[in-house]
Amino acid sequence: MRMTVIGTGYVGTVHAACMADIGHQVLGIDIDEARIASLAAGRAPMHEPGLDELLARTVASGRLRFSTSLAEGAEFARTHFVCVGTPQRPDSEAADLRYVDAVVDELAQHLRPGSLVVGKSTVPVGTAAALGGRIAASTRDCEVAWNPEFLREGSAVQDTMRPERIVVGVGSPHAEAALRALYEPLVRAGAEFFSTDTATAELVKVAANSFLATKISFINAMAEVCEAAGADVTVLARAIGADSRIGHRFLDPGLGFGGSCFPKDIRAFAARAEEIGAGEAVSFLHEVDRINLRQRQRTVMRTRQLVGGSFAGRRVAVLGASFKPGSDDVRDSPALAVASALHKEGASVRVHDPEALDNARTALPDLTYSLDIPKVCEDADAVLHLTSWPDYRRIDPLALASVVHSPVLLDARNSLDAQPWRAAGWSLHALGRPTGGTS
Ligand code: NAD
Repeated sequence: MRMTVIGTGYVGTVHAACMADIGHQVLGIDIDEARIASLAAGRAPMHEPGLDELLARTVASGRLRFSTSLAEGAEFARTHFVCVGTPQRPDSEAADLRYVDAVVDELAQHLRPGSLVVGKSTVPVGTAAALGGRIAASTRDCEVAWNPEFLREGSAVQDTMRPERIVVGVGSPHAEAALRALYEPLVRAGAEFFSTDTATAELVKVAANSFLATKISFINAMAEVCEAAGADVTVLARAIGADSRIGHRFLDPGLGFGGSCFPKDIRAFAARAEEIGAGEAVSFLHEVDRINLRQRQRTVMRTRQLVGGSFAGRRVAVLGASFKPGSDDVRDSPALAVASALHKEGASVRVHDPEALDNARTALPDLTYSLDIPKVCEDADAVLHLTSWPDYRRIDPLALASVVHSPVLLDARNSLDAQPWRAAGWSLHALGRPTGGTS
């Protein structure tokens, strides 16, 4: 089938390349000319395992091409996926739909009758219905469907090629049949296919993110209680997670969630629920957000204590800049938020990350960055483990102890093996665990 993918960021690039790989003819479209030029040359604009190979393969096959023209896209295909960003509005907690609106309004001028516009961006419930009305005003026989995206950065290619579920919100049997046909190879490979109305499809996405964010904030709330009680939240998490009704996943206590999805999605969900008269039902999401942001403050506070009560003249080494391992995305990264707060409080901050340094440097140019872990830790008064890249589990604590000023480590992700660090003479600290904890 022929399709366009409009907005070639993290979601659009992966979707376009994967759809081409399963046999479709795909035209990726973006307003960013440099990005389109790089993609057309088969180079991914972001770090994502397997994406470079996939792009090179699908571009070389001729099934994946790129353009900056929506008019060309409307001519090329009758199915159009919209994958542009929906960030938080600058003046409120609601979603900023200006990019989605701009695409749909321009596309509507060029659409051929019978076209299907499929939103993948995460949007407030009711968006597809509103856009459908706008398109109907200018073009005949076109429909807007919603097909929320569930990929995770760091495993985006795998998540798209082998999804657990595909959700489509449609208004007609024709749209459902088109999307079933398009995804047939993925359904055959085991994905569960849910067809529903557009409002339910839009809500599935924000409900899933809200649930996962709540689970993370729940265990971080337990971490705060454990700290006050002198208990160990990592043992507590393992013990409650062993109950199959609860499960271990998303129960890792630490610095909390960030990135371009969870924080803005839970805020936008709460804002939209308020608008439609259901605000009270999800008011707990404000608390989920507050607990999450508090972990960043607690990490700064804990570090201040560890360096003697003031950051003046202190050096802090930060391990990790991306919002999670496996991605170079630093949007709303908890690690960078902590690094920035330490810098503002007067600490000299040096940051390591295996993939995200370019993006981090662009976001926070005042910090010092290096790809060399010992250099980042040289003369440090404290080392902070803020993003759990596997690289940090391979550090030799004995060798690192010889370069720092004080062997003090705050494992804000609770994911380093404490024993070798202690054996090498480090004073080890973590959120939600007594200093000198057992694991
Ligand atoms: P992104 O910022 O990486 O990419 C958005 C792209 O859209 C950019 O390349 C931008 O240049 C392009 N764009 C903006 N206006 C355009 C226009 N008028 N025409 C063509 N292109 C235009 O965003 P993303 O992270 O890929 O997220 C996209 C959407 O998917 C968001 O709604 C997000 O919430 C959702 N989502 C993201 C993820 C994720 O892990 N990143 C996962 C699931 C869902």
